[in-house]
Amino acid sequence: MAFSTRIGRLRLFSSRSGNVIPRLPFRNAARLLLVVLCIVMVARVAPAIAQTVGKQPVALEARLEGDRAVSVLTVTLTHKVDVDIYPMQAPDRLIIDLPAVNFQIPPAFKSARTPLVKMVRYGLLGADRARIVIDLAAPALAGKISTQMVASGFAREFSIEIKAVEPSLFAIKAQEAEFAKRSLMLTTDKPAEGAGSVAPQANSQANSQANSQANSKAKNADRRPLIMLDPGHGGPDTGAVGLNNIAEKDVVMAFARNLKTLLESRGHYRVMMTRDTDVFVPLDERVRISRQNNAGLFVSIHADRLATATEVHGFTVYTGSEKATDAESAILAESENRADAMAGAYSVAAREDISDILDDLVRRETRSHSALFARTLLGRMEASGQVMNKNPHRSAGFRVLRAPDVPSVLLELGYLSSKTDISKLSDGGFREKMTGDIADAIDRFFAAKQAGEPQGVLPH
Ligand SMILES: [Zn+2]
Repeated sequence: MAFSTRIGRLRLFSSRSGNVIPRLPFRNAARLLLVVLCIVMVARVAPAIAQTVGKQPVALEARLEGDRAVSVLTVTLTHKVDVDIYPMQAPDRLIIDLPAVNFQIPPAFKSARTPLVKMVRYGLLGADRARIVIDLAAPALAGKISTQMVASGFAREFSIEIKAVEPSLFAIKAQEAEFAKRSLMLTTDKPAEGAGSVAPQANSQANSQANSQANSKAKNADRRPLIMLDPGHGGPDTGAVGLNNIAEKDVVMAFARNLKTLLESRGHYRVMMTRDTDVFVPLDERVRISRQNNAGLFVSIHADRLATATEVHGFTVYTGSEKATDAESAILAESENRADAMAGAYSVAAREDISDILDDLVRRETRSHSALFARTLLGRMEASGQVMNKNPHRSAGFRVLRAPDVPSVLLELGYLSSKTDISKLSDGGFREKMTGDIADAIDRFFAAKQAGEPQGVLPH
């Protein structure tokens, strides 16, 4: 949508119609302050620039300012990049697709908002693509887009004007964008940027890691069960955001890494993760990675936020089912199933076909194994005195729990809407205890499976 044009010493973006867009008026007024800020900022990140010259562009800084009619997002980048900006509906967002960027934006920006912009999220979609998602408080479209060198000459500021528009116009533009993206997918037989089937590209790294790991293990005839850990969310999908801007995607990644290290140190299992960096992985892809590698157990790890129930806290384990056990679980599953949309992927039809061709018995056995692991884990947690939710085993229609042949659970370590849970999750001692309990439960689960007691409740 935007192409660079060199005019004088400035690089500007022009719209498709070719109109060159001048610098924004507010910038003149604040120019001196910006120059000072940029110098300070560039000095602070100079080592980062030195390390990445000739490599990935680095996003150094971001600002958001404005009102309900017009807001402006400014991102400082070390390199010029080509961007694609388009609207998406339900929820209303502006998506900015760009090449892979090393995001070094200070964490304080996570709380930036204006009356028109609720939040700006960003992250990698895979090895070579990145995305910025602007969550809108009201329908808005991209207006003027411009870039200019910062005074030091080390970096460029990329500014996008976000202008409130009538809901009907926003809807039309969002539908046009979706049609164009989907058409591109059909004609090129390749996933369009922003399309739901972003999976093959988004996870080329994870897949190749998964495949090569699986192959090398196969060669060594390593018959130890494979535990697939699935840290929720990632990249532009931050998951829940708690107090102090703590993001679910980071909390669950830290926890999954601890659990992986512990399980590997015990030596009974092979352990893989559906993502091991801060990257977006679509829900169906997480299921696919798990099935393709013949996982013996799939453990999705979350720490969500319940906006309407801040008193809810404690550990909960979820298993998959068509019917939710309770209203809260149904709402949570629905919000989790929107993860792809939150990262800006168009929805694709759920792949029911895989389960249809499998024997009903396989599915039932898988379900009973999932439930067995849930009960085993809760027993272990209770015995070790962990604080649990008042109803710690729940079920709902989570998309990541759909593998018909891999026992799967989703753990809510705690809730980022609860102050008690946040302080626990950031406590190293608590994490160590909880990973220990989960690892113990995994041992008991596989011991019981081998002993052929899938229906039993294990002692703890
Ligand atoms: Zn989550």
